[in-house]
Amino acid sequence: MSVQRTLSIIKPDATRRNLTGAINNKIEKAGLRIIAQKRIKLSKEQAGIFYLVHKERPFYDELCDFMASEPIVVQILEGEDAILVNRKVMGATNPVEAEAGTIRKEFALSIGENSVHGSDGETTAAFEISYFFSGLELVG
Ligand code: ADP
Ligand code: MG
Repeated sequence: MSVQRTLSIIKPDATRRNLTGAINNKIEKAGLRIIAQKRIKLSKEQAGIFYLVHKERPFYDELCDFMASEPIVVQILEGEDAILVNRKVMGATNPVEAEAGTIRKEFALSIGENSVHGSDGETTAAFEISYFFSGLELVG
């Protein structure tokens, strides 16, 4: 076990339905500390760069349109094994397959509009954190 940081995004389907507080409650109850957080609106190009790893997937264009459609909340979570703990509290990509009590099980609308993003490993976490935050914004 080690203390890690991971990038979390509360997606447009969730900000639109005023679910920021409910989702943060689940994150904090899982023992993760929200050490930085801001509400922003992405351009489609900015969303496209963030999701570049999915460029060849059939849903890439739809995903970029969705992520740029309304404000999102980007946040850095810190804690023991934060990357894995956050993936657990998020639940499976497809809400139909997500475990009871997870964010996606309770709030996601579909496999695309699934309320949250979470980094999937240490390398992606480092890139994703630096994509949205400067060192000065890491307030602890
Ligand atoms: P996760 O967000 O669980 O890490 P992926 O990295 O595989 O999942 O996919 C990134 C995002 O792309 C998903 O969270 C979801 O918003 C969207 N997505 C994934 N699969 C599909 C799909 N089959 N149809 C539409 N959108 C999808
Ligand atoms: Mg992913």
